[in-house]
Amino acid sequence: MRDAVALQTRSNPDGTALVDAATDETWTYDELDAAVETTAGRLAALGVEAGDRVGVLMETRPAFARLAFACARLGAVLVPLNARLSRPELRAQVDALGPVLVVCEADTEADALALDAPAVSVDDGDARAFRDADSVDFAPADLSWGDTRALLFTSGTTGDPKAVRLTYGNFAASAVASAFRLGVLPDDRWLCPLSMYHTGGLSVVLRSALYGTTAVLVRTPGFDASEVRDALATYDCTGVSLVPTMLSRLLDSGGGPDSLRFALVGGAPTPPDLVARALDSDVPVCPTFGMTETASQVATLRPEQAAERPDSAGRPLFGTDVTILGPDGDPVPTGETGEIAVAGPTVTPGYVDGDGDRFGEYGLLTGDRGFVDAGGYLHVGGRQADQIVTGGENVHPEEVADALRDHPRIADVAVVGVPDDEWGERVGALVVPDGDVSLADLREFCEGRLAGYKHPRAVAFVDEIPRTTSGTVDREAALAALADDT
Ligand code: ATP
Ligand code: MG
Repeated sequence: MRDAVALQTRSNPDGTALVDAATDETWTYDELDAAVETTAGRLAALGVEAGDRVGVLMETRPAFARLAFACARLGAVLVPLNARLSRPELRAQVDALGPVLVVCEADTEADALALDAPAVSVDDGDARAFRDADSVDFAPADLSWGDTRALLFTSGTTGDPKAVRLTYGNFAASAVASAFRLGVLPDDRWLCPLSMYHTGGLSVVLRSALYGTTAVLVRTPGFDASEVRDALATYDCTGVSLVPTMLSRLLDSGGGPDSLRFALVGGAPTPPDLVARALDSDVPVCPTFGMTETASQVATLRPEQAAERPDSAGRPLFGTDVTILGPDGDPVPTGETGEIAVAGPTVTPGYVDGDGDRFGEYGLLTGDRGFVDAGGYLHVGGRQADQIVTGGENVHPEEVADALRDHPRIADVAVVGVPDDEWGERVGALVVPDGDVSLADLREFCEGRLAGYKHPRAVAFVDEIPRTTSGTVDREAALAALADDT
């Protein structure tokens, strides 16, 4: 089997493959195919062979997409590296995976040159210029579904990021299952304001090529809501992938165009009031539960279901089995909360070197808690590891956060367990106020809403909830903010 761009060039040569919203450049599948061929030839000239790992240390831009497809053409393994990591963090990842080459850009060049791997840059600068490599002839790879397509790092919310092995089959199954939930139209244009070193961003680009539709790229990092709104309108985008904070800012800036069929929102829970705001603004919000280990979506709610079940991440996608397990590892009855296990063709065959593998009879143990309601809808309730145990009582952070969110003068909130000598842990809340709100107000508000042991004992008022690049609460930063709590 050939790579997706090569296949599309045969069936859909004049279709638009890629749009760079930053420069207004576009590539048809024919043009992208030629660019990918040249890029693959340059990689080959730099010594990359089938099976080799190729590090890509850059933010979302067309060059990243070309490199991703060029790796497939050569049968090399794409290793996206998080451009926002510190040098020691990057060095640890590169040392662990041993890429034969790291391709960087102007902004990441200094970091790339400090790594223990040859660096080339797609921009001008101190590193060797990628474009100076003479594109040489190479034999295009004959790919199999089980071949490793990419090694993708998790976000590192619960510890060091883990390198996840994802196959061509994983990405294809994810594209098919997503299409069965969201639909695919020949003129679809999917905007990607997410970094491509996370699964949410990478999958937009890889899927669009499998569908023969258009991926529209805006520059990351940072999220300029008005720029994204303009790009959505200019290119009549039909889809967009967001993390919840981006959706909130997009709504603040006026929402999206009528062309939008779906706004996939994942990486972290989408609060029900944000779902409601999106629906009020006619933004077709699709709350999603997904993870790196499943090449993105596990479950997705359709917009017309969102009004009824704004607190759900929807039914599992086609082919994906979700089972909720109790403490003994057995499935629990419908409606009961436990650990979410996921099985199906999107699930990774394992982490690199098997480090941290957690597979059981019901598939991958996600470390996330949740329940499936009588309608088959998944509700995600935070991480197993985030469960707060205070004085022997279990407290689920999301339950407390949901209660506090109902306070009219609380804009955002995150709840974490703070180590405590007497109680083991106590409930800590990081609160973004929207107007005047005091600690006494919060205490009074919790009375009658939450059992006493669930009341926040440590509270810090902040301007913004600290989050990782994929939108999850940055626990360490949250604990630091709570260290000098009121
Ligand atoms: P690490 O595995 O290194 O700790 P991570 O789990 O944050 O990091 P990702 O794979 O980027 O890395 O994120 C997947 C996780 O994001 C899920 O396991 C879940 O905890 C969280 N998540 C994603 N979507 C949702 C959602 N709709 N509701 C609640 N949590 C979500
Ligand atoms: Mg994880």
